[in-house]
Amino acid sequence: MLQGVIAGLFLALLSLPRNITAGNLTCVCEHTDCEKNLICSGKLCFVSRHQEDREIIHKKGCLKADSELCWGSFTEKYGMKCCWSNMCNRNLAIQLPGESNQSEESPSLKNLLLMILVPLFAILVLAALVGLFVWKVVQSRQRQMLFGSDELEDMDFMLKASIAGDSTLENLLNDDCTTGSGSGLPFLVQRTVARQISLVECVGKGRYGEVWRGTWHGENVAVKIFSSRDEQSWFRETEIYNTVLLRHDNILGFIASDMTSRNSSTQLWLITHYHEHGSLYDYLQCTPLDVESCLRLATSIICGLVHLHVEIFGTQGKPAIAHRDLKSRNILVKNNKQCCIADLGLAVMHSQSSDYLDIGNNPRVGTKRYMAPEVLDEQIRMDCFESFKQTDIWAFGLVLWEIARRTVINGIVEDYKPPFFDMVPIDPSFDDMKKVVCVDQQTPTIPNRLYSDLTLSALAKIMKECWFQSPTARLTALRIKKTLKKLSNSFNKPKQHS
Ligand code: ADP
Ligand code: MG
Repeated sequence: MLQGVIAGLFLALLSLPRNITAGNLTCVCEHTDCEKNLICSGKLCFVSRHQEDREIIHKKGCLKADSELCWGSFTEKYGMKCCWSNMCNRNLAIQLPGESNQSEESPSLKNLLLMILVPLFAILVLAALVGLFVWKVVQSRQRQMLFGSDELEDMDFMLKASIAGDSTLENLLNDDCTTGSGSGLPFLVQRTVARQISLVECVGKGRYGEVWRGTWHGENVAVKIFSSRDEQSWFRETEIYNTVLLRHDNILGFIASDMTSRNSSTQLWLITHYHEHGSLYDYLQCTPLDVESCLRLATSIICGLVHLHVEIFGTQGKPAIAHRDLKSRNILVKNNKQCCIADLGLAVMHSQSSDYLDIGNNPRVGTKRYMAPEVLDEQIRMDCFESFKQTDIWAFGLVLWEIARRTVINGIVEDYKPPFFDMVPIDPSFDDMKKVVCVDQQTPTIPNRLYSDLTLSALAKIMKECWFQSPTARLTALRIKKTLKKLSNSFNKPKQHS
């Protein structure tokens, strides 16, 4: 009897939920058909989730009657749970098989992205820091190469004292005691000289900076102040002047180079001899020439160019140098009416003996008007030093043409004009020049009157041989120098020959 009562009670307990379903339950309602209060009433509460395409749809609500699905299995796409007490589905959760992966997928995707991006970012920051460090080291090396180590700073005071007083630039530059390993003054002397200069007037504005007349102990000097965007030209000129024996009558005389920091900006100076006539371009504007001075100018330029182009072997030697921006604005006229070549900011060096070609890393390019056809059509062989010399020869031919036009023959002379003045606009583009020089294969027109003079006819012949389209067919600087020297000799001693 007791057993019967206990069994009855147990069964009653087990069936309790089913009994509850008999009444109406209040459940949480979350789906499109729910009323505003988000509550519904029914026989049982449920939660369900199912997947449509990629979207997972959650529902909570009431059922009016028992559903098999309450007891049924979960599928990949659908799952449902039921409960039988008021609001029992509020915290009821459900997971579809395979959904656990999906639900973890977004955090794990996030984690994965973090795992990739964070180290990547760290690597980039590290690389930037290393790059900055390397750049700083290279800069300080460059500075040290040019100016020696800072330990020498103490000597500055002593030098200032010794450089002051009666010394002239001439004896400073010729003094054996002060001559350093390169061709110029020791670096500290350069710096000291630079800082004793007073700037007087601006005498030229190039594409990349300004040239000033300055004075040092009462003597004129030229100070080229580089704009910071042309740092590489300053570095190149300084490097070439300091590593190479370049003292030559027809190369602009180098005195000093200096880099100073003022108000967090860097000032780059290159100090050279000052030539009051200015550039050959300036000079030709207002000076008609006689045949003798024409020849003198031309010969002096080619002598300078030969000195650049030739490699000199031995301890006092020099590598071969190609200028790459030869033009009348980069040639200066000295008081003795000889020229000297200036502006080595684009020059390249080559040594056959030690087998190196140093083309520097200057982003600057030469002057379009003076570019040889192989430069304009980008066919130049950059790995071959000879090609650079051949482009100098093309440009030399153009300078010769500028000089020849200003030479009076039988009382006739032309106005100054730049090469190709009648074929391209004032500031020709690369394509303008390419069309004229490469496509149409034009060269400047040689005035007929030149042929009425023996010397000028010879110059005309040289010009044409500088302007062959094929770079290898052009004359060499040495060949031109020999021809011009011969012409000068016959010109100086006409009576002996006639
Ligand atoms: P950039 O590199 O800016 O072209 P340059 O060295 O060619 O600089 O000089 C620009 C101009 O300044 C020249 O065309 C010339 O008129 C003048 N100039 C340069 N150096 C001297 C100098 N040593 N003496 C007198 N004038 C100079
Ligand atoms: Mg120049």
